Amino acid sequence: MDCIFCKIVNKEIPSSVVYEDDKALAFNDIAPQAPVHIIIIPKIHVTTVAELDDMDVIRDLYYVMKKIAEEKGIAETGYRIVVNHGKDAGQAVPHLHFHLLGGRPLKWPPG
Ligand code: AMP
Ligand code: ZN
Repeated sequence: MDCIFCKIVNKEIPSSVVYEDDKALAFNDIAPQAPVHIIIIPKIHVTTVAELDDMDVIRDLYYVMKKIAEEKGIAETGYRIVVNHGKDAGQAVPHLHFHLLGGRPLKWPPG
C-alpha cells in the first residue's frame, strides 16, 4: 500500500521508534513542533477514526500515549493530543495518527 505510515510500520522507511507493540507504533515526528512531538498510530491502515469499527484500538492507543507522556517527563507539565481528521483539519497523512505534543507551553486555540 502506498501509505507512508504503513511503510514505517513495515520498516520500509526508517523512523525514530519510541514505542512498539503488536498493534501500535510510536515514533518521533520528522518535523517536530514542540520539544516532544511523537506520532502514535495503529498498525492497521485506516484513514480516520470514521473507518474504525473497533474502538478498543483507540483505548489501547490512549494507554500507550499516557505511558509515553510519563516516560518523556511531560505528564506533570502537561501535553496536547491532536488528531487531524480530513481536509479542513489539514490531515496530510491518510493513516489515522495521534500527535503527542509537549515540553513547552502550547498556544490555544489553534489557528
Ligand atoms: P497530519 O497533518 O496530522 O497528517 O500530520 C502528519 C505528520 O506526520 C506531520 O507532523 C509530519 O511532520 C509527520 N510525518 C510525515 N512524514 C513523516 C515521517 N516519514 N516520519 C515521521 N513523521 C512524519
Ligand atoms: Zn497506512
